[in-house]
Amino acid sequence: MQKVTQLEVWMEEGPREECGVVGIFAPNEDVARMAFFGLFALQHRGQEAAGIAVSDGQGMSIYKDVGLISQVFGPHTLDGLKGHYAIGHTRYSTTGSSLMRNVQPFMIETMHGPLALGHNGNLVNSVELRRRLLEDGVGLSSSSDTEVMTMMLARSLGNTWSERIQSCMREWVGAYSLVILTRDCVYAARDPWGFRPLCVGWLPNGGYAAASETGALHTLGCEAIREVNPGEVVTLSDSALVVHQALKPNDPLARCVFENIYFARPDHVWDNQSVHHVRQRLGEELTREVNIEADVVIPVPDSSIPAAIGFSRLSGIPYNDGFVKNRFVGRTFIEPTDSLRKRGVAMKYNVINENVLNKRVIMIDDSIVRGNTTGPLIKLLRTAGAQEVHVAITCPPIKYPCYMGVDMGTQDNLIAHKRTVDEIRKMVDADSLTYLSVEGMMRAVGRTEGYCQACFTGQYPIDVDVQTVKTGFELSLK
Ligand code: SF4
Repeated sequence: MQKVTQLEVWMEEGPREECGVVGIFAPNEDVARMAFFGLFALQHRGQEAAGIAVSDGQGMSIYKDVGLISQVFGPHTLDGLKGHYAIGHTRYSTTGSSLMRNVQPFMIETMHGPLALGHNGNLVNSVELRRRLLEDGVGLSSSSDTEVMTMMLARSLGNTWSERIQSCMREWVGAYSLVILTRDCVYAARDPWGFRPLCVGWLPNGGYAAASETGALHTLGCEAIREVNPGEVVTLSDSALVVHQALKPNDPLARCVFENIYFARPDHVWDNQSVHHVRQRLGEELTREVNIEADVVIPVPDSSIPAAIGFSRLSGIPYNDGFVKNRFVGRTFIEPTDSLRKRGVAMKYNVINENVLNKRVIMIDDSIVRGNTTGPLIKLLRTAGAQEVHVAITCPPIKYPCYMGVDMGTQDNLIAHKRTVDEIRKMVDADSLTYLSVEGMMRAVGRTEGYCQACFTGQYPIDVDVQTVKTGFELSLK
């Protein structure tokens, strides 16, 4: 079989997914296969690379590569991973590019035994932490902030891994939801701002699992699921589940509001709320802010479907499917031919002509980031005979980059940076364009505080050195 060395995620308009993590302690179970299926449920959070590390209480083994989970792992690779403890990671690169050397988990030998780490998020002080390690003579082999975290853990002070994790957490600034594997424990740790999700559950046959989203834990059959609260370290091992509040939660918290809008699977429960229901409420709130007469409401699948349902329910405008999405074509490793590439979004979306022909259409989408998909989608609808195309977006204009683990590009890449809504409307050729207000978005979330909204407002919940961008490490390596 040809080895995959390069992934192309083409035609990708939205903010790129972050990463997904799983951690499992399950005595007498095939933990590698469990980690595989847990990651499979988190594939939407990262499609560039995947890895699983396993410990049998004595030694640790790992397999990781570039590619989708089903491309990286097969029966032969999983059979080689034996043990009771596992962590897994599916990756979209946030710090460091898609090089093989950045693929997670990172695994090293330490004076306390083997150690592996998988990370969702991005540290904003990683350049400084990296410099300190290099000055102390620690060699680094990648451009990833996760390797910095791994090396810091290996040399940190403390009698137990729990104490060492706590001591490092005091120095890590930014977003981190972590799974950490040692010889005989799995740890799940979350930053005190609570940027990225992380939860744990009880396995029906004994043992515990941790994962980025509750949907992955349900896939594994978990019961009694709870969040790893901001600042907590949860230990999954032979003894009972141990919860340790390592750092005081920040007040206010800074959960990523974009998990609700776009990232998380709709079956995820985030901040004790169903993401699906929050998305429906985003659609309902949009109804209050869009004053347009129309014949049909259509979603841009998949993440906008609940919002379009909510919009339709409250407005009374009928819902229908307008697009059929090929969910996998943008994830292929196979380069399209030039003539296929020129078809652009038409490779990914087909219009159901009968549902839009001669109709005034409201197209609901979750976001406009770079703006290179919205225009072509509108064109597809017009070509299919839509009389008018009105666009309603379930979040405010994205004007500022994210430094907490979501790749939206630089400020100049963002279509809403330095442009008015009407200028954007003209660029994408919509009859009207409405973004949900910040207030409407937060009404749908049902909270007045505790969420990061920095990509809309520019008010970052932590001090950010804008030089600490995604490729900062690679620049410093040159
Ligand atoms: S800046 Fe936006 S995407 Fe990044 S953490 Fe904040 S809300 Fe989420």
